[in-house]
Amino acid sequence: MRCIICNSKMDPKKIETVNIDVCPKCEGVWLDEGELEKLAGLDPKSARELKCTVCDIPMSTKMINDVEIDYCQICLSIWLDKGELEKLSGINPKTGRKNILFEYMNTHYYKKDGKYIRK
Ligand SMILES: [Zn+2]
Ligand SMILES: [Zn+2]
Repeated sequence: MRCIICNSKMDPKKIETVNIDVCPKCEGVWLDEGELEKLAGLDPKSARELKCTVCDIPMSTKMINDVEIDYCQICLSIWLDKGELEKLSGINPKTGRKNILFEYMNTHYYKKDGKYIRK
C-alpha cells in the first residue's frame, strides 16, 4: 500500500503480534481495525463504534473545548455523552435548564488551556 500523505511505499512492520505499515518518509503509521487497541493494550471492546442513525456510517470524533464529541462527517449531526452538553453549553438536557454558574463564568471569564481567566 501507499502512504495517504506522501504516496511513498509503506514498509510492513511486525510489532509484537501486530502487523502495521510505516511510511519511511513521513513516518506516518497505518493501523487496521483493532490494531491500536492491541498495541496500546486496550480492550478492543472498549473502542466503541458509533453509527450515525441517519446516514448509517461510523461517527468520527473531534475535540471541542476539551470535550471529545462524536460527529457524522456527512450530515454533521453530533452525539454527546452524558454531561457533555452541560460542559459545552451549560444546559442540562434532563432538566432543560441552563446552569447559572456556567453562564456567569462565560460572561466574566474566558477559558484557556482548561483554566478560567477573568475577562
Ligand atoms: Zn508518508
Ligand atoms: Zn449522518
